[in-house]
Amino acid sequence: MSQYDFDLFVIGAGSGGVRASRIAASHGARVGICEESRVGGTCVIRGCVPKKLLVYASHFAEDFEDARGFGWETGPSSFSWSRLIQAKDKEIDRLNQVYLGLLSGSGVKLYEARGSFIDQHTLQVGGETVTAERILIATGGTPWAPDIPGIEHAISSNEAFDLKELPARVATVGGGFIACEFSGIFNGLGSSVTQIYRGDAVLRGFDQDVRRVVSSELVKKGIDLRLEEDISSIERKDSGLQLNLKSGATLEVDQVMYATGRVPLVRDLGLREIGVEVRADGRIVVDDYSRTSVEHIFAVGDVTSRVNLTPVAIYEGHSFADSEFGNHERPVNHEFIPSAVFSQPPVGTVGYTEEEAITHFGPVDVYLSEFRPMKHTLSGRDEKTLMKLIVEHQGQKVVGIHIVGPDAPEIVQGFAIAVKSGLTKERFDCTIGIHPTAAEELVTMRTPARSHG
Ligand code: NDP
Repeated sequence: MSQYDFDLFVIGAGSGGVRASRIAASHGARVGICEESRVGGTCVIRGCVPKKLLVYASHFAEDFEDARGFGWETGPSSFSWSRLIQAKDKEIDRLNQVYLGLLSGSGVKLYEARGSFIDQHTLQVGGETVTAERILIATGGTPWAPDIPGIEHAISSNEAFDLKELPARVATVGGGFIACEFSGIFNGLGSSVTQIYRGDAVLRGFDQDVRRVVSSELVKKGIDLRLEEDISSIERKDSGLQLNLKSGATLEVDQVMYATGRVPLVRDLGLREIGVEVRADGRIVVDDYSRTSVEHIFAVGDVTSRVNLTPVAIYEGHSFADSEFGNHERPVNHEFIPSAVFSQPPVGTVGYTEEEAITHFGPVDVYLSEFRPMKHTLSGRDEKTLMKLIVEHQGQKVVGIHIVGPDAPEIVQGFAIAVKSGLTKERFDCTIGIHPTAAEELVTMRTPARSHG
């Protein structure tokens, strides 16, 4: 009989923690998990899932407009924010129940309480003390905003999901995933949106062509995109929030939503006291097996800030459980992870940007196609689709695909298998396209737009 209460105890029941605990239990481990908020974590409760539902909701305004080009006369339409939020909440409650069912169905014992370390094998969980042979930290991240005067008047995406009413005038701050996604959501639902970003094109870190096209499409949709701009202070006035901008301009809005990044949630866990190495920015240092500086303590997901995406946390959690409890060593590999930004139009991407590919591989060919999607030949909408392939010279492998346009995330998910498998441009070329689709461009582009070499 083990000297510990559990073989594995997991702190945090989000995507990574739930997957790790279920898989470990399926390998026969006695597993406990604790969660201070709601089981499901950021993605399910206040992230990817509700965000995507809001993106769907916001797209209808454009769909109604586009329908006219196809002969439809649509009547006057109206939108109810409270009905949308109620419907979204109902779905999130359902998913929360599904997650609870998954845990109990796998025999994982749930503690609905906060966990923190007492020593390397002992945790304080709510009012109880539990011991475990191995411990997994999967506490995720939390929004971060700069400490400017009046920042207490701002909201983060957490609160945006539960606003009592749709703000008539809203500012989003940042140029990353969340700011671009929420600018599109608020804009589609009818708010007047100003997006304030300190850089010269949104989505830093993405391929330059993607950044250029998304920046220009945001503006075409009616978002007032203020580049190379920032907020120096926020003041509450009778008529709204006054944003004092670095340029000297002022702007009045009803809500200001900061999306200036997220930080690992390690506060009060007691990590330093038990010898778990944590970087200055809060990231827990781990190896390829998600092992921390303490032999039997592991960490997965956003708290390690490797690649902060739900499927990555799930993959890391699953790999950890297989390696530690399933007799199957599975180091994690973060190369060629596809990702998407659910901006409007959305972005789908896998592999290296053009700039990264040059640095990494040397000579590369770039295949590029920018066109008006077929639907908009009749809708009349001025929206561009971008398709881009990057091929390294030596092995002729496709090492990057970048798409901006309708269904880009769905398309890239499929093509990511080809890129991850190291397929060559010749393999793409000998694949027959499906006509008429946008994705056929990826197998029909024959002449590089440019070559670096
Ligand atoms: P991001 O890191 O994507 O973007 C943060 C933005 O805030 C950047 O544009 C950054 O500018 C800007 N910024 C940072 N610090 C400051 C500052 N002090 N003043 C002004 N601007 C600042 O973070 P998000 O909050 O958008 O999202 C957090 C993470 O969540 C993402 O990185 C992603 O991993 C994940 N996520 C994934 C989604 C998806 O898969 N679709 C959706 C939503 C979130 P600069 O570029 O100049 O540094």
